[in-house]
Formats: sequence, C-alpha cells, structure tokens
Amino acid sequence: MGPGLDFADLPSLSAAVHNCRRCPLGHSRTRAVPGVGPGDARIMIVGEAPGQNEDLQGEPFVGAAGKLLDQLLRGIGLSRGDVFITNILKCRPPGNRDPQPAEAEACSPYLEQQLRLIKPEVVLVLGRHALARLLPGYESISRLHGKVVVKDAVSYIPVYHPAAALYNSFLMGPLEQDFKAVKAHLDRAEERRQIVAAAAATPVPKPEEQLTLFG
Ligand code: URA
Repeated sequence: MGPGLDFADLPSLSAAVHNCRRCPLGHSRTRAVPGVGPGDARIMIVGEAPGQNEDLQGEPFVGAAGKLLDQLLRGIGLSRGDVFITNILKCRPPGNRDPQPAEAEACSPYLEQQLRLIKPEVVLVLGRHALARLLPGYESISRLHGKVVVKDAVSYIPVYHPAAALYNSFLMGPLEQDFKAVKAHLDRAEERRQIVAAAAATPVPKPEEQLTLFG
C-alpha cells in the first residue's frame, strides 16, 4: 500500500485523496471525489469514476446516472443518506474514457481503506469496471448481475451501471430487477437480524426452572 496510506478515519482519507498525485489524473482533475455517506453505512455503492458533473462538484453520482441511482434507491426504500457512495477512481478520466488499469491500481488503496473503515455488510458493485476491481476473476457483469457473492464476510451484489442503462435502454429492466434482488437480500438480512435479536432477548431458564418444567 505504501507509506502514509493507512488512514485512521474517513476524513483523513478524504484529505489525502484531495492532495493525491499518485497518477496523472491527479493533475487533470478539477476536484477529487473521495465519496460521500455515513462512516458506519451498512451499504456501500462503488461506481466507476467521476464524470464531468462530479469533477466540478466534488461529489459522486450528481449527474444523470446519479438521478437514476437515487430513483432506484428510493424504489427499494433507501435514500442517499443511508449509503456510502464512491468510485473505483477518485478523479475524472479526461473525456470520461474508461479507467486505465494503472489508474485503478494507483487508486485502489483508497477503496481498500474505505472498505476497512466503513465495514459495510453489503457492497453494490456498479458495472463492469467496479466488478473487475472488486471481484477479479469472477464472471462478467452480464452473467453475475443481481447475484450475491460473499467474500471476506461481505455480500457483494454486482448490478448494471445506471449510465449503461441510460445509454442502452434494454438494460433498464434488468437494472430494476437487480435492485429488486438487492432489496430481497436486505430483507432476508433484516429478518435474520431480528431472529438473532429476539433470541438474545429471550431469557435462558435457570437450571432449577428447567427442572420444574420437565418434572
Ligand atoms: N458514474 C460513476 O461511475 N460514478 C460517478 O460518480 C458518476 C457517474
């Protein structure tokens, strides 16, 4: 990871991203985009890279793809305030070109540290670039979208990228289905949590009570 990249908290990580020159994008960006959301979010969303609007505002997913993401989140009962949103790259590639492997590699310590600090239960992996970075060696997005992959006790759910669905309208239906799969997963996790909480709240009978119970 290199010296100085072991952050105590998210604000110091963000400050380092704003000063980062680990790759040439650090010189061409307007603003770096470390990510936004609560530091204890149970759900983390990882996209590809900032676009033009994000580069100007310093926030992820504030353009057209962001509006669609907000809508999809609302559709499953979530809002932006519930999730931590970030990208594989923290700076905009010129002309919105694809991230280059060397850029993704240079930027990866920030994402690794965000995962370590936030400790999300669920990570929504938006699109093929985030998939290649977070689940290397797994199947393609067209095969894996909407499925749950458990890695290091975290549930990763790859979904189509909202920008891809805006460009290719035939992906809109599958993207909506992906978010339904996310909701089903979150509902199952909530049910399990309630069962565990109820079991923990049920007093265990003392040995003498057990004797009276059974004779
Ligand atoms: N697309 C992304 O992947 N990330 C953003 O922040 C905006 C658009």
